[in-house]
Parts: sequence; structure tokens; C-alpha cells
Amino acid sequence: MSTPGSCNVGASKSNDDDVCEVAGKLEKMKTSEDNEDEEDVSVCANCGKEGANNVCNKCKKATYCNAACKKKHRHKHKKDCEEHLRLAAERAAELHDEELFKEPPSQYGDCPICFLRLPTLHTGWRYQTCCGKVICGGCSYAPVYDNQGNKVDKHKCPFCRTPDPITEEEANERDKKRMEAGDPIAIYNIGRNYYSGLCGYKQDYKKALELWHRAGELGYANAYNNIGYCYNSGRGVEVDKGKAKQYYEVAAMGGDSTARHNLGNNEVRVGNYDRALKHSMIAVRGGDSDSLVIIKGIYSKGHATKEDYTKGLQLYQEYMTDIKSEQRDKAAAADEMHRYY
Ligand SMILES: [Zn+2]
Ligand SMILES: [Zn+2]
Ligand SMILES: [Zn+2]
Ligand SMILES: [Zn+2]
Repeated sequence: MSTPGSCNVGASKSNDDDVCEVAGKLEKMKTSEDNEDEEDVSVCANCGKEGANNVCNKCKKATYCNAACKKKHRHKHKKDCEEHLRLAAERAAELHDEELFKEPPSQYGDCPICFLRLPTLHTGWRYQTCCGKVICGGCSYAPVYDNQGNKVDKHKCPFCRTPDPITEEEANERDKKRMEAGDPIAIYNIGRNYYSGLCGYKQDYKKALELWHRAGELGYANAYNNIGYCYNSGRGVEVDKGKAKQYYEVAAMGGDSTARHNLGNNEVRVGNYDRALKHSMIAVRGGDSDSLVIIKGIYSKGHATKEDYTKGLQLYQEYMTDIKSEQRDKAAAADEMHRYY
């Protein structure tokens, strides 16, 4: 779905190990916990002697006193070994799904001025390069007052009252400063500039990816969605649909509704309507109205019930209740740039 585009600033360090961070996270999800019951750990599966501590290196379930016993028993153990491995894979997939389909956090949290949930739609909020706050369209549009209650002339940050940057250079300078301070949104934005080649940046997909990896590690889930998109379409990396999916999953678990939408869409394509429905419900609750269309489609093809569709509508309504405000409506009516749903 949505891809990176538009403006901000910077330059940065690079490192290739960033990829490992996510890979590690995914690995952890796959492997944690298991066993109990099963064979007695201290008895040799071949000769029955106690004190065996040489485990089958495949399933890690059978124990032997030594390599010789292990070898002798190999033939007998083969079937059990395969079964152990199958069960372990099944359990890992279950655990993975448990994590994947958990209700994710709201990606942007609340507006620090009106305290209402920030809309998911990116035109519904604005990132301030002065203080690093994400302010809703309603509060960005509302007049700013000084300490005496006098209306301040426009173009000041509604949160910290720093005047807006006038030139592109100034804006870029501020972004850079925030990036140096480790602000994930600034890092993400600068990555976006590299990606699009806008705002005085020379297009560089690799640089964009490096920055998005950093932003992701610092907790900005949207960055992982963009990385997933790059793997999906071969921008700056070789096309790798498997990796694309992994990054979409990490992004979705971090609350990114676009990534969640992408996952739902992919499941529809391969006919996994059950999973598609689960993803789409979460995406809808996170404000992705396109996923409501997916749910409707699944329902109209007879792969979901009317209740499912009604549930989807309800979830979207809940989201709308969270984000709706008079001030935001006013802002959106005055300027399309403030549209928030
Ligand atoms: Zn033995
Ligand atoms: Zn084994
Ligand atoms: Zn607000
Ligand atoms: Zn500010």
C-alpha cells in the first residue's frame, strides 16, 4: 500500500548488521520455550544407562551416553526424531501467531495538546522538527496564543512556539539535529528524503534503508513497513518476498496499520481467508479503512459471516470515536492537507 514519499533532511552512518536485529527478534519468536514431558534426560535412549548427556543434535529430545550409542540408535530413533521436529515446528508457528495477532499498540499515541488519539492517516498529524512532537491537524490548525492570551501570528509550533523553519536548509538542519539526538521520526523522515530524492537529497535507496533500520530499532514501526516494501519491490535490495513478509509482520506488531493491511491482502491472495480476516480486523481497529473493504470482499465471497463484517464496521467506528474532534473537523474542512480519515 502506501510507500514513502515527501520531505525532510540529513545524512548518517551506515551498518549492515541492522538487519540482524529483526532477524533475531523473529528468531526469538520462533524458538522460545518447549519440552517438559518426553524422554528422561538422564537415561540413554539406546542402552538405558543413567547419566547420559549426549543429546540428539536434531531434535534435542533423545539423550545418549556417547556418540557410539547415538549412532547405534539412529535408525530406531529416526521416526520419533521427525515427529519431535514436526511438533516443535507446529508449536513455534503457534507461538508466532499468538504474538502476531495480539492487539498492537496505537502507533502514534495521543496528541500532546488535545490528548486525543492521533489519526493513522498521515495528513491527520504533523511532526514538529523543533520539539519532535507529533501534533494533530486540529491543534496545528488552531490559533496559537502567548502567555497573555494574545493570538500569536501563525507559523509557530503549537507545542513549543518555535517559529516554523522558513527555508529548506533550515528545515533540513533541524531534522539533522533531531536525528543526532536519536529521534526515530526524524531518522525515518530523512530516510524518506533519501528514498524519494526530494528536499535537497540525492536519491539513495541503500541510505534510506539504513536509516529506516535505525528508526525501526528505535521503535518507529512504520520504518519496518517501508523496509518490507523495499524487499517486496526490490528497491535498494534484491526482491525477497519472505523478508518482505517478516518486516511487515514486525511493523504490524508495532502498530503499523498499513503493514497489517499488506499482510491481510497477501493472505487473501493465497486464499487464507481466516488469517486475512484476523489481520484486517486489527488493521481496521487501527484506522485502516481499506481493510474494511477487504473484509467486505471476503464476506461477499462467502468466506466470512455477516457478523464478521458487522464486527469490522464496529471496530472502525471505535477507531473513529477515538480520533474524531470538532477542531480536527474544522481543520480538515478548511484545508485538505488536514484530512484525517
Ligand atoms: Zn548408551
Ligand atoms: Zn532426534
Ligand atoms: Zn491535538
Ligand atoms: Zn515545537
